[in-house]
Amino acid sequence: MPKSAAYRINTLAIAKNNMSATITIALSKGRIFKETLPLLEHAGIIPLDDPTTSRKLILDTNLDDVKLVVIRASDVPTFVEYGAADMGVTGKDVLVEYGGDGLYEPLDLKIARCRMMVAGPKDGVVDESRMRIATKYVETAKRYFAAQGQQVEIIKLYGAMELAPIVGLADRIVDVVDTGNTLKANGLVAMDHIADVSSRLIVNKASMKMKHERVKRYIDLIAEAVASKG
Ligand code: AMP
Repeated sequence: MPKSAAYRINTLAIAKNNMSATITIALSKGRIFKETLPLLEHAGIIPLDDPTTSRKLILDTNLDDVKLVVIRASDVPTFVEYGAADMGVTGKDVLVEYGGDGLYEPLDLKIARCRMMVAGPKDGVVDESRMRIATKYVETAKRYFAAQGQQVEIIKLYGAMELAPIVGLADRIVDVVDTGNTLKANGLVAMDHIADVSSRLIVNKASMKMKHERVKRYIDLIAEAVASKG
């Protein structure tokens, strides 16, 4: 798409949502969504539709001026940066990959906690001087191995990273690990800890100014909910 067309669409998205009285919140599908619901409830926001059964892409809530969009975690920063949503919830793993400084990140929600790890076969012998790393976290992996002074070849995958060492596609993977069960089930072990990961509240910069009172109130209420969980 030519740059000018993309720019027109972006400004349209900003205009449409930022100029409206509605607060749109972009939420990540799956486990993050489930863990976000109680925090939203504390802020007085309750979805009227169940996204696991509804085919609607925009969910109404009990508040006329608050809507939810439930999308892939990796799309949440894009929706929020371009103003198609005023606020969003996604993992720090996704935000690190997304990069840039186009978003405010006012709150660590301390939910969907996991660890970004390097993992590999239990008994694998590898030439550490030219390892191949399979991951969907390309930027995170690049940065980590550069900081270790280790030259690696990064292979981008979109899922099922655990398969890569088994079929000889890569020596190691970089992925988020929670219980470690997925690694174990595939004969892999966690090796190096790169970072702790949790979900964050993010806010569009223009919304923070133009809808300041309501956005600030929701940030404060959600912060209260996080603090009350200890
Ligand atoms: P586990 O078997 O509990 O270690 O979970 C690992 C699998 O779930 C991997 O495929 C991860 O990509 C995914 N996963 C675990 N925790 C999270 C999280 N907080 N956010 C997104 N994906 C996760």
